[in-house]
Amino acid sequence: MSTSTTRLNEICKQLALDLKPLSGNDITSRSPADGATLATLKAHSAEQASAAIQAAHNAYLQWRTVPAPVRGELVRRFGQTLRQHKAALGALVSVEAGKITSEGLGEVQEMIDICDFAVGLSRQLHGLTIASERPGHRMMETWHPMGVVGIISAFNFPVAVWCWNSALALVCGDAVVWKPSEKTPLTAVACQHLLEKTIAEFNQEQPGAVPAGISQLLIGARDVGEVLVDSPLVPIVSATGSTRMGRQVGVKVAERFGRSILELGGNNAMIVTPSADLELAARAITFAAVGTAGQRCTTLRRLIVHKSIADQLVARLEKIYGSVTVGDPMTDGTLVGPLIDKASFDGMQAALAQAKAEGGTVIGGQREREDLGADAYYVRPALVKMPAQSKVMEHETFAPILYIVTYDGSAEDAIALQNAVPQGLSSAIFTSDLRDAERFMSPAGSDCGIANVNIGTSGAEIGGAFGGEKETGGGRESGSDAWKGYMRRATNTINYSGALPLAQGVRFDV
Ligand code: NAD
Repeated sequence: MSTSTTRLNEICKQLALDLKPLSGNDITSRSPADGATLATLKAHSAEQASAAIQAAHNAYLQWRTVPAPVRGELVRRFGQTLRQHKAALGALVSVEAGKITSEGLGEVQEMIDICDFAVGLSRQLHGLTIASERPGHRMMETWHPMGVVGIISAFNFPVAVWCWNSALALVCGDAVVWKPSEKTPLTAVACQHLLEKTIAEFNQEQPGAVPAGISQLLIGARDVGEVLVDSPLVPIVSATGSTRMGRQVGVKVAERFGRSILELGGNNAMIVTPSADLELAARAITFAAVGTAGQRCTTLRRLIVHKSIADQLVARLEKIYGSVTVGDPMTDGTLVGPLIDKASFDGMQAALAQAKAEGGTVIGGQREREDLGADAYYVRPALVKMPAQSKVMEHETFAPILYIVTYDGSAEDAIALQNAVPQGLSSAIFTSDLRDAERFMSPAGSDCGIANVNIGTSGAEIGGAFGGEKETGGGRESGSDAWKGYMRRATNTINYSGALPLAQGVRFDV
């Protein structure tokens, strides 16, 4: 038995999770940590997926009438369940997605945080009261549930992204149907198991509190996701993944006038100006560029550094990059775990070859720790000094590659370089100059959904709205008023006057 399968068995015991009823031959879950097969599962057929959507829709018809604070109580209880099982679920994220222990736990903490946020929200789904131009009239807006929210998620945040969506959707009165990545089905099975356990306990205390079928899980690849995307019973599709996927999903959902929330690829940059605290910058760059082995949508991929400080900063980074511990994600001290699979490793090597062909100098990037498994892909993170921002830098390669270019002019020149890519997710500036910082956050500054000052591009908190512009898809999830994306708005005008005045002074006497 491999290390990963031993770990999985222990986790299943802790979660009281029985995988046997799910076993089949369609979807293979493997651990990137040692390449071992963890389980092979049955996929849902198109008919089963449609039936699950119908069941969720039926549950929604009842759930929408349950008072929002009672819906919040379900999410509060789910947050408690997650607290109890944080260690086991975090470990499962490490085993199946290859995140280091601290990041696996951090992902579950993010689920707990969004549950807390959603509980508060369940008493704050506010609309406005609006002054009417007509005497004896009042206007207001009310927010209502929409129906089934289809959630399609990526391998690299296998549990948190579902929770961002489902915690909000559930308090908003929607039902959820989740199609997780085919690379990480077990973490999804575990989440659904914990939510079902929470629902059963709630229903035991308050019979009928939560309708059966309110949360559904679909196991499968893209074809199963397409059933969600095409279903008229799914008014909202929240899809997280590559821009390639979003291009297909966005068009199909728009064709049937559905609403999509797209969270797609990033190509994030940091600008380092001459006044920056370079030691702080070096630490922020390292976490943002090599954390999660470069497999975050917000991973730092482009460093735009002023010529006058470039040698000093790059020398510091070379030293750090040479010494970060690459290895088994669950061993103490490891900072860089594995890439998800061979395709990811091949993609990284192809990008490095292209960077060289475009004049780049590559430091690192080679495979390491082959002793951990023939089918486990560990790499030394790569620094690539580029003569200019060339073609290879316009694409997101989902691996730890940090391209470095210099600029010689003003912060405006650096901002122009930063914005000159098709994606618009996250961005950062390191500077001690107030004017550069403000310019960066101004309308003429960064064109991204996230624009940070003196912190890196990754590691967002759940309180803010999360998402990005351009090819990143424009969706917003998580905090702020992202909940509005899961509800429909009705404008109500109430006439208490006994007359029937028309707006804009129109007369229509009958
Ligand atoms: P992916 O696009 O290969 O797959 C994502 C999900 O979409 C999977 O569940 C997959 O089965 C499904 N899918 C693919 N094509 C589909 C289609 N035509 N119809 C319906 N479903 C379809 O992405 P991945 O490799 O799992 O994840 C990495 C990508 O995700 C990166 O580009 C990363 O930047 C992005 N990502 C973005 C965010 C964000 O919030 N912006 C967060 C995490 C990951």
